[in-house]
Amino acid sequence: MTEKRPKAAASRLFFALWPDDPLRESLRHSTRKAIRASGGRPVPPQNLHVTLAFLGSVADADRAGVAAAAVNVREPAFKFTLDELKVWPRAKTLVLAPGTASVELARLYSQLWDGLEEAGFAREARPFRPHVTLARKVATPGKMTLAAPIEWRADAFALVRSITDPAGAQYKVIRCWALQGESPQGPGR
Ligand code: ATP
Ligand code: MG
Repeated sequence: MTEKRPKAAASRLFFALWPDDPLRESLRHSTRKAIRASGGRPVPPQNLHVTLAFLGSVADADRAGVAAAAVNVREPAFKFTLDELKVWPRAKTLVLAPGTASVELARLYSQLWDGLEEAGFAREARPFRPHVTLARKVATPGKMTLAAPIEWRADAFALVRSITDPAGAQYKVIRCWALQGESPQGPGR
């Protein structure tokens, strides 16, 4: 008999929209000055993302339910715009959020949680406020402006593992699921 070592038995997981490299670079470029003006501690560019569902510590044995929840999602690919810088005073974070709510993003969130509930996870009580965290420990921010709005084309979402490290969280994408169908600019439209 082989026994699993305890450290392999569970991992801290979340679902997210994960930017590809060009989008990550746009995010970095558009927010660089604002992050500096915020006086906060920048989130490393490789960590930027939009969280869809935070699961916390998940036993390896429960991973199948997590994957089934992802398969439950039937939302087609969509676009949304991140164009609002905000400081959330209680969390002391600088975030980038959509100024106009995205119906498609809300549906993706809701479909994902439908499946997660079926798999036994408790849906978050607080409303979904999609955002990218740009900086933490923001105390007395200066005037912040966004160099350019971010057009995000969501054509997939990811299951990500968070590894707590004294130097800050490290994220590893475990698996991605494509969103269905063609984008509004797909062939023949
Ligand atoms: P650290 O906790 O080390 O400062 P972090 O918050 O970036 O780093 P995690 O706590 O693993 O890393 O969180 C991963 C993602 O899930 C982040 O986007 C975080 O904002 C979000 N998250 C964490 N806890 C919750 C929670 N209780 N509810 C909703 N989202 C959460
Ligand atoms: Mg955290």
